Amino acid sequence: MTTRPQTSGLARHLGRVGTELETLQTGRYGDPLARRSVWGPALDVPLPREGAGADAVVEEIATTLIPNGARFGEAGFSGWIVSTPGTVATVAQAAATVASSQRYTLTAFNLVEEVSLRWLAELCGLDPGRMLGVYSSGGSVANLVALGAARQWAFEQRGVDVAADGTGGRLTAVYASAETHHTVHRAAAVLGLGRSSVRAVPTDSAQRMDVDALAAMLAADQAAGVIPVAVVANAGTTNTGAIDPIRAAGEAAQAAGAWFHVDGAYGLLGSLDERVAGLYDGLELADSAIVDPHKWLNAPTGTAATFVRDRAILYRAFTQEPAAYLESVFSPADDAQSSLDSVGIPYSEFGVELSAPARGTAVWAVIRELGRSGVAARVREDRDLASRLAEVARRHPRLEVLAEPVLSICCVRYTAPGLADHDRVNEAILRRLLRDTPYLPSSTRVGGAFAIRPCYINPRTTPEHVDGLAAAIVEIGDEIIGDEITAEFA
Ligand SMILES: *Cc1c(COP(=O)(O)O)cnc(C)c1O
Repeated sequence: MTTRPQTSGLARHLGRVGTELETLQTGRYGDPLARRSVWGPALDVPLPREGAGADAVVEEIATTLIPNGARFGEAGFSGWIVSTPGTVATVAQAAATVASSQRYTLTAFNLVEEVSLRWLAELCGLDPGRMLGVYSSGGSVANLVALGAARQWAFEQRGVDVAADGTGGRLTAVYASAETHHTVHRAAAVLGLGRSSVRAVPTDSAQRMDVDALAAMLAADQAAGVIPVAVVANAGTTNTGAIDPIRAAGEAAQAAGAWFHVDGAYGLLGSLDERVAGLYDGLELADSAIVDPHKWLNAPTGTAATFVRDRAILYRAFTQEPAAYLESVFSPADDAQSSLDSVGIPYSEFGVELSAPARGTAVWAVIRELGRSGVAARVREDRDLASRLAEVARRHPRLEVLAEPVLSICCVRYTAPGLADHDRVNEAILRRLLRDTPYLPSSTRVGGAFAIRPCYINPRTTPEHVDGLAAAIVEIGDEIIGDEITAEFA
Protein backbone atom coordinates (compact mmCIF):
# COMPACT_ATOMS: atom_id res chain seq x y z
CA MET A 1 0.00 0.00 0.00
CA THR A 2 1.28 3.43 -0.96
CA THR A 3 1.65 6.10 1.69
CA ARG A 4 1.56 8.95 -0.84
CA PRO A 5 -2.11 9.91 -1.35
CA GLN A 6 -3.13 9.25 -4.93
CA THR A 7 -6.03 10.45 -7.00
CA SER A 8 -6.30 7.27 -9.01
CA GLY A 9 -9.58 5.51 -8.37
CA LEU A 10 -11.33 8.85 -7.92
CA ALA A 11 -14.18 8.08 -10.33
CA ARG A 12 -14.73 4.64 -8.84
CA HIS A 13 -14.70 5.91 -5.26
CA LEU A 14 -16.97 8.87 -6.01
CA GLY A 15 -19.38 6.47 -7.68
CA ARG A 16 -19.47 4.24 -4.62
CA VAL A 17 -20.08 7.18 -2.30
CA GLY A 18 -22.63 8.73 -4.69
CA THR A 19 -24.83 5.62 -4.54
CA GLU A 20 -24.96 5.81 -0.75
CA LEU A 21 -25.65 9.55 -0.79
CA GLU A 22 -28.66 8.98 -3.02
CA THR A 23 -30.03 6.43 -0.58
CA LEU A 24 -29.45 8.75 2.39
CA GLN A 25 -31.47 11.49 0.69
CA THR A 26 -34.52 9.25 0.52
CA GLY A 27 -34.60 9.04 4.30
CA ARG A 28 -34.51 5.24 4.05
CA TYR A 29 -31.80 4.90 6.67
CA GLY A 30 -33.93 6.50 9.37
CA ASP A 31 -32.51 8.30 12.35
CA PRO A 32 -28.79 7.71 12.95
CA LEU A 33 -29.09 7.91 16.72
CA ALA A 34 -30.96 4.59 16.73
CA ARG A 35 -27.71 2.92 15.63
CA ARG A 36 -25.31 4.92 17.77
CA SER A 37 -24.25 1.77 19.61
CA VAL A 38 -22.93 0.47 16.28
CA TRP A 39 -21.25 3.48 14.68
CA GLY A 40 -20.12 5.09 17.93
CA PRO A 41 -17.68 2.36 18.95
CA ALA A 42 -16.74 1.66 15.31
CA LEU A 43 -15.58 5.23 14.77
CA ASP A 44 -14.39 6.35 18.17
CA VAL A 45 -11.19 4.35 18.16
CA PRO A 46 -7.60 5.20 19.10
CA LEU A 47 -5.18 6.73 16.58
CA PRO A 48 -4.56 4.01 13.98
CA ARG A 49 -0.96 2.80 13.98
CA GLU A 50 -1.16 1.55 10.43
CA GLY A 51 -3.24 2.94 7.60
CA ALA A 52 -6.26 1.01 6.35
CA GLY A 53 -5.73 2.00 2.72
CA ALA A 54 -7.97 3.91 0.31
CA ASP A 55 -10.45 1.13 -0.51
CA ALA A 56 -11.15 0.40 3.14
CA VAL A 57 -11.63 4.06 4.03
CA VAL A 58 -13.99 4.69 1.14
CA GLU A 59 -15.96 1.63 2.17
CA GLU A 60 -16.13 2.95 5.73
CA ILE A 61 -17.39 6.29 4.42
CA ALA A 62 -20.03 4.50 2.39
CA THR A 63 -21.22 2.09 5.05
CA THR A 64 -20.54 3.72 8.41
CA LEU A 65 -20.55 7.49 7.85
CA ILE A 66 -23.12 8.23 5.13
CA PRO A 67 -26.01 6.08 6.41
CA ASN A 68 -25.55 7.79 9.76
CA GLY A 69 -25.40 11.32 8.40
CA ALA A 70 -27.66 14.28 9.02
CA ARG A 71 -31.33 14.23 8.03
CA PHE A 72 -31.29 17.73 6.49
CA GLY A 73 -31.88 16.40 2.97
CA GLU A 74 -35.04 14.45 3.79
CA ALA A 75 -38.24 15.76 2.22
CA GLY A 76 -39.85 16.34 5.60
CA PHE A 77 -36.95 18.37 6.98
CA SER A 78 -37.73 22.07 7.43
CA GLY A 79 -35.59 22.99 10.46
CA TRP A 80 -33.70 26.27 11.01
CA ILE A 81 -32.64 27.60 7.58
CA VAL A 82 -30.61 24.59 6.63
CA SER A 83 -30.48 23.04 3.19
CA THR A 84 -28.63 20.23 1.46
CA PRO A 85 -26.92 20.76 -1.88
CA GLY A 86 -28.54 19.10 -4.85
CA THR A 87 -26.76 16.93 -7.39
CA VAL A 88 -25.31 19.65 -9.61
CA ALA A 89 -24.10 21.73 -6.67
CA THR A 90 -22.47 18.69 -5.09
CA VAL A 91 -20.74 17.67 -8.30
CA ALA A 92 -19.61 21.26 -8.91
CA GLN A 93 -18.14 21.46 -5.44
CA ALA A 94 -16.32 18.17 -5.85
CA ALA A 95 -14.95 19.38 -9.19
CA ALA A 96 -13.73 22.65 -7.69
CA THR A 97 -12.19 20.86 -4.71
CA VAL A 98 -9.85 19.02 -7.02
CA ALA A 99 -9.57 21.22 -10.11
CA SER A 100 -9.16 24.53 -8.28
CA SER A 101 -8.40 23.91 -4.65
CA GLN A 102 -8.08 27.68 -4.18
CA ARG A 103 -10.11 30.45 -5.80
CA TYR A 104 -6.95 32.11 -7.17
CA THR A 105 -4.95 32.10 -10.38
CA LEU A 106 -6.18 32.79 -13.87
CA THR A 107 -8.38 29.75 -14.46
CA ALA A 108 -11.93 29.02 -15.53
CA PHE A 109 -12.82 28.53 -11.86
CA ASN A 110 -11.49 31.96 -10.93
CA LEU A 111 -13.53 33.53 -13.73
CA VAL A 112 -16.64 31.67 -12.59
CA GLU A 113 -16.06 33.03 -9.07
CA GLU A 114 -16.65 36.55 -10.38
CA VAL A 115 -19.34 35.62 -12.92
CA SER A 116 -21.34 33.85 -10.22
CA LEU A 117 -21.11 36.86 -7.91
CA ARG A 118 -22.42 39.05 -10.71
CA TRP A 119 -25.30 36.66 -11.44
CA LEU A 120 -26.09 36.34 -7.76
CA ALA A 121 -26.21 40.11 -7.28
CA GLU A 122 -28.59 40.44 -10.22
CA LEU A 123 -30.79 37.57 -8.97
CA CYS A 124 -31.03 39.33 -5.62
CA GLY A 125 -32.15 42.60 -7.16
CA LEU A 126 -28.80 44.35 -6.62
CA ASP A 127 -27.14 46.35 -9.38
CA PRO A 128 -24.40 43.96 -10.56
CA GLY A 129 -22.43 46.83 -12.05
CA ARG A 130 -22.29 48.68 -8.74
CA MET A 131 -22.41 46.02 -6.02
CA LEU A 132 -19.29 43.88 -6.27
CA GLY A 133 -18.90 40.84 -4.12
CA VAL A 134 -16.69 38.45 -2.25
CA TYR A 135 -17.52 35.00 -0.96
CA SER A 136 -17.00 33.82 2.59
CA SER A 137 -18.04 30.89 4.72
CA GLY A 138 -21.50 32.02 5.81
CA GLY A 139 -23.70 34.86 6.92
CA SER A 140 -21.61 35.25 10.07
CA VAL A 141 -18.47 36.15 8.16
CA ALA A 142 -20.40 37.93 5.41
CA ASN A 143 -21.91 40.27 8.01
CA LEU A 144 -18.47 40.73 9.58
CA VAL A 145 -17.00 41.71 6.22
CA ALA A 146 -19.86 44.13 5.47
CA LEU A 147 -19.64 45.75 8.89
CA GLY A 148 -15.86 45.90 8.51
CA ALA A 149 -16.46 48.01 5.41
CA ALA A 150 -18.98 50.13 7.33
CA ARG A 151 -16.51 50.67 10.16
CA GLN A 152 -13.73 51.57 7.73
CA TRP A 153 -15.91 54.09 5.94
CA ALA A 154 -17.37 55.63 9.12
CA PHE A 155 -13.91 56.29 10.54
CA GLU A 156 -12.51 57.49 7.21
CA GLN A 157 -15.24 60.15 7.24
CA ARG A 158 -13.59 61.33 10.46
CA GLY A 159 -10.02 61.18 9.17
CA VAL A 160 -9.09 57.85 10.79
CA ASP A 161 -7.85 54.67 9.06
CA VAL A 162 -9.41 52.34 11.60
CA ALA A 163 -7.95 49.18 10.03
CA ALA A 164 -4.46 50.55 10.59
CA ASP A 165 -4.91 52.47 13.82
CA GLY A 166 -7.93 51.06 15.65
CA THR A 167 -11.01 52.82 16.98
CA GLY A 168 -9.11 54.79 19.63
CA GLY A 169 -11.91 54.04 22.04
CA ARG A 170 -14.37 56.24 20.16
CA LEU A 171 -17.99 55.45 21.00
CA THR A 172 -19.80 53.80 18.11
CA ALA A 173 -23.21 52.38 17.42
CA VAL A 174 -24.74 49.88 15.02
CA TYR A 175 -28.53 49.99 14.69
CA ALA A 176 -30.46 46.80 14.06
CA SER A 177 -33.92 45.55 14.91
CA ALA A 178 -34.48 43.42 17.97
CA GLU A 179 -35.12 40.50 15.58
CA THR A 180 -31.68 40.79 13.98
CA HIS A 181 -29.44 37.75 13.77
CA HIS A 182 -26.89 37.70 16.60
CA THR A 183 -24.01 37.35 14.16
CA VAL A 184 -24.34 41.14 13.81
CA HIS A 185 -23.54 41.48 17.51
CA ARG A 186 -20.63 39.08 17.17
CA ALA A 187 -19.31 41.04 14.18
CA ALA A 188 -19.45 44.21 16.30
CA ALA A 189 -17.48 42.39 19.00
CA VAL A 190 -14.81 41.14 16.60
CA LEU A 191 -14.49 44.57 14.98
CA GLY A 192 -13.75 46.15 18.34
CA LEU A 193 -17.00 48.11 18.41
CA GLY A 194 -18.40 45.90 21.15
CA ARG A 195 -21.59 43.91 21.30
CA SER A 196 -23.14 46.60 23.47
CA SER A 197 -22.73 49.09 20.63
CA VAL A 198 -25.52 47.29 18.78
CA ARG A 199 -28.74 49.18 19.48
CA ALA A 200 -31.86 47.00 19.48
CA VAL A 201 -34.41 48.98 17.51
CA PRO A 202 -37.95 47.96 18.57
CA THR A 203 -40.17 46.12 16.12
CA ASP A 204 -43.84 46.41 15.22
CA SER A 205 -46.47 43.68 15.55
CA ALA A 206 -45.17 42.06 12.34
CA GLN A 207 -41.56 41.88 13.64
CA ARG A 208 -40.40 44.75 11.38
CA MET A 209 -38.07 47.51 12.46
CA ASP A 210 -39.85 50.59 13.84
CA VAL A 211 -38.13 53.27 11.75
CA ASP A 212 -39.42 56.16 13.87
CA ALA A 213 -37.71 54.57 16.85
CA LEU A 214 -34.58 54.14 14.71
CA ALA A 215 -34.58 57.85 13.81
CA ALA A 216 -34.99 58.81 17.47
CA MET A 217 -32.08 56.57 18.51
CA LEU A 218 -29.85 57.98 15.75
CA ALA A 219 -30.68 61.53 16.86
CA ALA A 220 -30.01 60.82 20.52
CA ASP A 221 -26.64 59.24 19.72
CA GLN A 222 -25.71 62.08 17.38
CA ALA A 223 -26.34 64.56 20.20
CA ALA A 224 -24.09 62.44 22.44
CA GLY A 225 -21.25 62.35 19.90
CA VAL A 226 -21.54 58.62 19.18
CA ILE A 227 -20.32 57.56 15.72
CA PRO A 228 -23.19 55.91 13.81
CA VAL A 229 -21.32 53.10 12.05
CA ALA A 230 -24.20 51.31 10.33
CA VAL A 231 -27.90 50.76 10.15
CA VAL A 232 -28.69 47.08 9.51
CA ALA A 233 -32.00 46.18 7.90
CA ASN A 234 -33.24 42.62 7.59
CA ALA A 235 -34.42 41.34 4.24
CA GLY A 236 -35.98 38.29 5.88
CA THR A 237 -35.38 37.73 9.59
CA THR A 238 -34.31 34.30 10.73
CA ASN A 239 -37.19 33.94 13.19
CA THR A 240 -40.16 34.77 11.02
CA GLY A 241 -38.90 36.03 7.64
CA ALA A 242 -39.95 39.61 8.39
CA ILE A 243 -38.62 42.25 6.00
CA ASP A 244 -37.79 45.62 7.57
CA PRO A 245 -38.99 48.79 5.78
CA ILE A 246 -35.87 48.96 3.64
CA ARG A 247 -36.33 52.33 1.98
CA ALA A 248 -37.28 54.10 5.21
CA ALA A 249 -34.38 52.50 7.11
CA GLY A 250 -31.98 53.38 4.29
CA GLU A 251 -33.14 56.98 4.22
CA ALA A 252 -32.76 57.25 8.00
CA ALA A 253 -29.22 55.88 7.67
CA GLN A 254 -28.36 58.33 4.90
CA ALA A 255 -29.78 61.27 6.86
CA ALA A 256 -27.56 60.33 9.81
CA GLY A 257 -24.49 59.77 7.62
CA ALA A 258 -24.44 56.06 8.49
CA TRP A 259 -23.61 53.11 6.25
CA PHE A 260 -26.69 51.12 5.25
CA HIS A 261 -26.35 47.33 5.38
CA VAL A 262 -29.02 44.83 4.36
CA ASP A 263 -28.82 41.37 5.93
CA GLY A 264 -30.46 39.14 3.36
CA ALA A 265 -28.61 35.96 4.35
CA TYR A 266 -31.86 34.05 4.08
CA GLY A 267 -34.34 36.28 2.33
CA LEU A 268 -32.62 38.39 -0.30
CA LEU A 269 -33.71 36.00 -3.05
CA GLY A 270 -37.34 36.48 -2.00
CA SER A 271 -37.68 39.46 -4.33
CA LEU A 272 -37.75 36.95 -7.21
CA ASP A 273 -41.39 36.37 -6.26
CA GLU A 274 -43.21 39.36 -7.73
CA ARG A 275 -45.93 39.00 -5.07
CA VAL A 276 -43.49 40.28 -2.42
CA ALA A 277 -40.95 42.12 -4.58
CA GLY A 278 -42.40 45.44 -3.38
CA LEU A 279 -41.22 44.70 0.15
CA TYR A 280 -37.64 45.08 -1.10
CA ASP A 281 -38.24 48.61 -2.32
CA GLY A 282 -35.24 50.79 -1.49
CA LEU A 283 -32.63 48.06 -1.85
CA GLU A 284 -30.63 50.36 -4.13
CA LEU A 285 -29.86 52.47 -1.03
CA ALA A 286 -27.77 49.63 0.41
CA ASP A 287 -24.05 50.29 0.81
CA SER A 288 -23.66 46.57 1.48
CA ALA A 289 -25.81 43.48 1.44
CA ILE A 290 -25.28 39.82 2.14
CA VAL A 291 -26.88 36.62 0.95
CA ASP A 292 -26.20 32.98 1.85
CA PRO A 293 -26.41 30.80 -1.26
CA HIS A 294 -26.23 27.89 1.19
CA LYS A 295 -29.72 28.75 2.34
CA TRP A 296 -32.38 29.34 -0.32
CA LEU A 297 -30.11 28.55 -3.28
CA ASN A 298 -29.20 25.14 -1.80
CA ALA A 299 -25.48 25.63 -2.39
CA PRO A 300 -23.09 23.63 -0.19
CA THR A 301 -22.80 24.91 3.37
CA GLY A 302 -19.93 27.33 3.68
CA THR A 303 -21.11 29.71 0.95
CA ALA A 304 -22.07 33.32 1.60
CA ALA A 305 -21.58 36.50 -0.39
CA THR A 306 -21.02 40.08 0.71
CA PHE A 307 -21.75 42.80 -1.83
CA VAL A 308 -20.36 46.29 -1.28
CA ARG A 309 -20.76 49.41 -3.38
CA ASP A 310 -16.99 49.88 -3.52
CA ARG A 311 -14.55 46.97 -3.17
CA ALA A 312 -11.77 49.49 -2.54
CA ILE A 313 -13.30 50.08 0.90
CA LEU A 314 -13.13 46.34 1.53
CA TYR A 315 -9.51 46.42 0.41
CA ARG A 316 -8.62 49.18 2.85
CA ALA A 317 -10.52 47.42 5.63
CA PHE A 318 -9.05 43.96 5.13
CA THR A 319 -5.72 44.17 3.30
CA GLN A 320 -2.95 42.09 4.83
CA GLU A 321 -0.45 44.52 3.35
CA PRO A 322 2.34 43.12 1.18
CA ALA A 323 3.95 39.87 2.29
CA ALA A 324 7.08 38.35 0.80
CA TYR A 325 5.53 34.90 0.57
CA LEU A 326 2.74 36.23 -1.65
CA GLU A 327 4.83 38.66 -3.64
CA SER A 328 5.04 36.89 -6.95
CA VAL A 329 1.32 36.37 -7.29
CA PHE A 330 0.44 40.06 -7.15
CA SER A 331 1.96 40.95 -10.50
CA PRO A 332 -0.56 42.69 -12.77
CA ALA A 333 -2.90 40.42 -14.68
CA ASP A 334 -2.89 42.31 -17.98
CA ASP A 335 0.52 41.02 -19.04
CA ALA A 336 0.00 37.52 -17.65
CA GLN A 337 1.53 34.76 -19.75
CA SER A 338 0.70 31.93 -17.39
CA SER A 339 -2.34 31.24 -15.21
CA LEU A 340 0.06 31.39 -12.27
CA ASP A 341 1.26 34.90 -13.07
CA SER A 342 -1.56 36.42 -11.03
CA VAL A 343 -4.13 35.54 -8.38
CA GLY A 344 -6.74 37.27 -10.50
CA ILE A 345 -9.11 39.42 -8.49
CA PRO A 346 -7.49 39.58 -5.01
CA TYR A 347 -10.46 38.26 -3.04
CA SER A 348 -8.20 37.53 -0.09
CA GLU A 349 -7.77 41.28 0.36
CA PHE A 350 -11.53 41.83 0.53
CA GLY A 351 -12.28 39.63 3.53
CA VAL A 352 -10.72 37.66 6.35
CA GLU A 353 -9.63 34.50 4.51
CA LEU A 354 -6.51 33.87 2.46
CA SER A 355 -6.87 30.20 1.57
CA ALA A 356 -10.43 29.60 0.50
CA PRO A 357 -12.26 27.16 -1.73
CA ALA A 358 -13.70 28.24 -5.07
CA ARG A 359 -17.22 28.63 -3.65
CA GLY A 360 -18.49 30.34 -6.75
CA THR A 361 -18.34 27.10 -8.72
CA ALA A 362 -21.38 25.58 -7.01
CA VAL A 363 -23.27 28.88 -7.09
CA TRP A 364 -22.54 29.21 -10.79
CA ALA A 365 -23.66 25.61 -11.37
CA VAL A 366 -26.97 26.00 -9.52
CA ILE A 367 -27.84 29.20 -11.36
CA ARG A 368 -26.68 27.70 -14.66
CA GLU A 369 -28.88 24.65 -14.04
CA LEU A 370 -32.06 26.49 -13.05
CA GLY A 371 -31.73 29.90 -14.64
CA ARG A 372 -33.41 32.94 -13.22
CA SER A 373 -36.86 31.49 -13.90
CA GLY A 374 -36.03 28.21 -12.17
CA VAL A 375 -34.72 29.90 -9.04
CA ALA A 376 -37.75 32.20 -9.03
CA ALA A 377 -40.08 29.21 -9.37
CA ARG A 378 -38.47 27.55 -6.35
CA VAL A 379 -38.81 30.71 -4.30
CA ARG A 380 -42.48 31.00 -5.26
CA GLU A 381 -43.17 27.33 -4.51
CA ASP A 382 -41.47 27.55 -1.13
CA ARG A 383 -43.46 30.64 -0.23
CA ASP A 384 -46.59 28.79 -1.29
CA LEU A 385 -45.76 25.96 1.12
CA ALA A 386 -45.52 28.39 4.04
CA SER A 387 -48.77 30.06 2.98
CA ARG A 388 -50.44 26.68 2.72
CA LEU A 389 -49.49 25.82 6.30
CA ALA A 390 -50.88 29.17 7.49
CA GLU A 391 -54.09 28.50 5.54
CA VAL A 392 -54.50 25.00 6.99
CA ALA A 393 -53.78 26.33 10.49
CA ARG A 394 -56.28 29.17 10.17
CA ARG A 395 -59.01 26.74 9.20
CA HIS A 396 -58.27 24.30 12.03
CA PRO A 397 -59.71 25.07 15.45
CA ARG A 398 -56.71 23.63 17.28
CA LEU A 399 -53.97 25.30 15.25
CA GLU A 400 -52.93 28.91 15.55
CA VAL A 401 -50.71 31.03 13.30
CA LEU A 402 -48.28 33.00 15.48
CA ALA A 403 -46.55 34.83 12.64
CA GLU A 404 -48.07 35.18 9.18
CA PRO A 405 -45.61 34.02 6.56
CA VAL A 406 -43.89 36.70 4.52
CA LEU A 407 -41.30 34.48 2.86
CA SER A 408 -41.10 30.71 3.42
CA ILE A 409 -41.28 30.54 7.23
CA CYS A 410 -44.54 29.87 9.03
CA CYS A 411 -44.78 29.98 12.85
CA VAL A 412 -47.66 27.92 14.24
CA ARG A 413 -48.70 26.22 17.44
CA TYR A 414 -51.24 23.81 18.80
CA THR A 415 -54.02 25.26 20.89
CA ALA A 416 -57.14 23.93 22.65
CA PRO A 417 -59.97 25.43 24.68
CA GLY A 418 -58.77 26.13 28.19
CA LEU A 419 -55.16 25.18 27.41
CA ALA A 420 -53.10 27.29 29.81
CA ASP A 421 -49.52 26.25 29.20
CA HIS A 422 -49.17 26.46 25.43
CA ASP A 423 -45.40 26.52 25.55
CA ARG A 424 -45.01 23.26 27.45
CA VAL A 425 -47.44 21.36 25.22
CA ASN A 426 -45.93 22.71 22.00
CA GLU A 427 -42.41 21.96 23.15
CA ALA A 428 -43.55 18.39 23.81
CA ILE A 429 -45.19 18.25 20.37
CA LEU A 430 -41.95 19.33 18.68
CA ARG A 431 -39.96 16.63 20.51
CA ARG A 432 -42.48 14.00 19.43
CA LEU A 433 -42.46 15.25 15.81
CA LEU A 434 -38.70 14.83 15.65
CA ARG A 435 -38.78 11.39 17.27
CA ASP A 436 -41.83 9.78 15.73
CA THR A 437 -42.67 11.45 12.41
CA PRO A 438 -40.98 12.29 9.10
CA TYR A 439 -41.80 15.99 9.71
CA LEU A 440 -38.73 17.74 11.06
CA PRO A 441 -39.25 21.47 11.73
CA SER A 442 -37.51 23.56 14.41
CA SER A 443 -38.85 26.18 16.79
CA THR A 444 -38.59 29.80 17.81
CA ARG A 445 -40.40 32.31 19.99
CA VAL A 446 -42.83 34.87 18.61
CA GLY A 447 -43.71 37.64 21.04
CA GLY A 448 -42.41 35.36 23.80
CA ALA A 449 -44.57 32.38 22.78
CA PHE A 450 -43.03 29.06 21.73
CA ALA A 451 -43.71 28.41 18.04
CA ILE A 452 -43.20 25.42 15.80
CA ARG A 453 -41.35 26.96 12.88
CA PRO A 454 -40.83 25.21 9.56
CA CYS A 455 -38.73 27.09 6.99
CA TYR A 456 -39.37 25.80 3.48
CA ILE A 457 -36.21 25.94 1.37
CA ASN A 458 -35.94 22.22 0.71
CA PRO A 459 -36.72 21.38 -2.94
CA ARG A 460 -37.90 17.89 -1.95
CA THR A 461 -40.71 19.14 0.26
CA THR A 462 -44.20 18.90 -1.26
CA PRO A 463 -47.62 20.25 -0.22
CA GLU A 464 -48.36 16.78 1.21
CA HIS A 465 -45.53 17.31 3.71
CA VAL A 466 -47.11 20.57 4.78
CA ASP A 467 -50.48 18.92 5.32
CA GLY A 468 -48.79 16.00 7.05
CA LEU A 469 -47.00 18.30 9.48
CA ALA A 470 -50.23 20.12 10.35
CA ALA A 471 -52.06 16.84 10.90
CA ALA A 472 -49.22 15.45 13.02
CA ILE A 473 -49.17 18.55 15.25
CA VAL A 474 -52.91 18.19 15.88
CA GLU A 475 -52.75 14.45 16.43
CA ILE A 476 -49.85 14.64 18.89
CA GLY A 477 -51.33 17.67 20.66
CA ASP A 478 -54.69 15.94 21.08
CA GLU A 479 -52.93 12.90 22.46
CA ILE A 480 -50.94 14.90 25.02
CA ILE A 481 -54.00 16.85 26.14
CA GLY A 482 -56.08 13.67 26.22
CA ASP A 483 -53.51 11.90 28.37
CA GLU A 484 -53.42 14.82 30.78
CA ILE A 485 -57.21 14.94 31.11
CA THR A 486 -57.28 11.19 31.67
CA ALA A 487 -54.57 11.52 34.34
CA GLU A 488 -56.48 14.31 36.03
CA PHE A 489 -59.65 12.27 36.39
CA ALA A 490 -58.00 8.94 37.16
C1 LIG B 1 -28.50 32.44 8.79
C2 LIG B 1 -28.40 33.89 9.01
C3 LIG B 1 -27.20 34.49 9.40
C4 LIG B 1 -25.97 33.68 9.74
O1 LIG B 1 -25.55 32.97 8.63
P1 LIG B 1 -24.62 31.67 8.75
O2 LIG B 1 -24.47 31.27 7.33
O3 LIG B 1 -25.37 30.68 9.56
O4 LIG B 1 -23.35 32.07 9.38
C5 LIG B 1 -27.18 35.87 9.49
N1 LIG B 1 -28.26 36.61 9.24
C6 LIG B 1 -29.44 36.06 8.90
C7 LIG B 1 -30.63 36.94 8.63
C8 LIG B 1 -29.56 34.68 8.77
O5 LIG B 1 -30.73 34.12 8.43
